[in-house]
Amino acid sequence: PLMFFGTTNLDLCFNVERLPTPGESLMGGLTRYPGGKGANQAVAAARLGLKPHFYTRLGDDDAGHWLLQSLMQAGVRADAIQISAGEVSGSALVMVGDDGSNMIVIDPGTNLNVTPEMIERAAEFIARDAIVVAEMGMPISALNRLFEMKADKGFELIFKPAPVRPGLSPAAWASVDFVTPNQTEAFELTGIEVLDFHTAAGAALKLLDLGPAAALITLGAQGAYYADKKQSFSLRAFPVKVVDTTAAGDAFNGAFAASLAESLPLREAVRRALAVAALCVTRRGAQSSMPSREAVGEFLQS
Ligand code: ADP
Repeated sequence: PLMFFGTTNLDLCFNVERLPTPGESLMGGLTRYPGGKGANQAVAAARLGLKPHFYTRLGDDDAGHWLLQSLMQAGVRADAIQISAGEVSGSALVMVGDDGSNMIVIDPGTNLNVTPEMIERAAEFIARDAIVVAEMGMPISALNRLFEMKADKGFELIFKPAPVRPGLSPAAWASVDFVTPNQTEAFELTGIEVLDFHTAAGAALKLLDLGPAAALITLGAQGAYYADKKQSFSLRAFPVKVVDTTAAGDAFNGAFAASLAESLPLREAVRRALAVAALCVTRRGAQSSMPSREAVGEFLQS
């Protein structure tokens, strides 16, 4: 059993030859994609064949209804999801250059209207022995409430601290089982620049000081670094041809959670997450770039 909490956005994605500089106008092609870090992660797990629950808040607008439909089509369970009258769904302006690099601006919309009470209601969908996954796009008060509930409910908690913001309580940090930042997020949380596996080791130690039981740092094309109090290891990324890195971290995190939910051993879970993220960067879009279970199986055997 697996449940995700987080944001959903309509991604307005412009493909451009290269990213613009300030003051410059460029031509590009626009595509609308379903996105949002929480939704992307839930879809990554659903594409792997799990049936994750997802809690998010959507506005009663065209985007909200379209986003809900695409989540359900991907196999995400939507019982906990709210469509809220009079509110505007989250959206993001994404620009992707031909080299796969991106720039993103987010309007959180109704994602910011999630309250601790709403989290309490949604928590009825957390099954026994569940793995719960959260990111940082929801209000911090809601996140603190979710993390506090771990003591009662006893779930396992994976936390992608994106976008990094202050205010998470020490008790909330201490309830995290796996914190899964990328290099930027690890730097923002620790002040240590993560350039390679060696510097990742230093950052991971500092992350553990914040309270989580384990740190799993993603390093883009380099791979991922894992550390808890007893062991540490690094695994290299799979070399692939990059088309669009949007949602790579979400692919990684959703697949890591799905793999733990399927009781894969830790290293295997990280390896599968690397494979899912590698396939994700070979395709355009966010949720549309999450690979199927079959595609991941073939990729890992080739
Ligand atoms: P985020 O998308 O949150 O910024 P990263 O850039 O660290 O996170 O990417 C997450 C994961 O996606 C990496 O650990 C890696 O597995 C995979 N990935 C990202 N970029 C590449 C790449 N160029 N080649 C292969 N895998 C990649």
